[in-house]
Amino acid sequence: MILVSACLLGSNCKYNGGNNEVTTLLDLLQGQDIRQVCPEVAGGLPIPRPPAEIIDGDGFDVLAQKARVMNIKGEDVTENFLKGCQEMLKGINLDEIDFAILKEKSPSCGVRKIYTGEFNGTLKPGTGVGAAFLKKKGVTVYSEEDLEKIKDRLN
Ligand code: SF4
Repeated sequence: MILVSACLLGSNCKYNGGNNEVTTLLDLLQGQDIRQVCPEVAGGLPIPRPPAEIIDGDGFDVLAQKARVMNIKGEDVTENFLKGCQEMLKGINLDEIDFAILKEKSPSCGVRKIYTGEFNGTLKPGTGVGAAFLKKKGVTVYSEEDLEKIKDRLN
C-alpha cells in the first residue's frame, strides 16, 4: 500500500479549498494500491481553513512537544495536527505500507521543506508533522518532487 497526500491526487482538501494535483503522479500510480491521506482534515480541521505553519522548529520538534503549529490568525492547531497523525494510520498495519508520497512544503506533509513560521512565504529545510510521524515509524517518505525515485521504486 502506498500512502499519498490526498491533495496530490486532486482532492480539494487544501487549506484554501483547492488541490495540488500532479497528473504525472496520477499516471504513475495507476493500478497501485493507494490510500489517500490528509492529516489536517483527519485531525478535525475544516476546508477551507486558515493556513498554518510550524513555529520555532519542524514536525519532529512538534512530535517532541518542543514546537507548536499556529494558524495565521494566531490560533494553536497543534492538537489537530497530532490527532491527524494518529487518524492517518487508523486501521492500517505499518507492515502494509510500502512507502508514502506526501506534498512538499506543507506543515503536515512537507518532506524536506516547510515554511519558516513567519507567514511570509519563506521556506526552510524541515519536515512536516505527519511526514515526521511516518518517518519516525520507519516509513520511507517521498514527495511529489521525487518522481524519478518513485518510478524506480515501482519498477
Ligand atoms: S494536509 Fe497534506 S494532504 Fe492535506 S491538504 Fe495539506 S498537504 Fe494536502
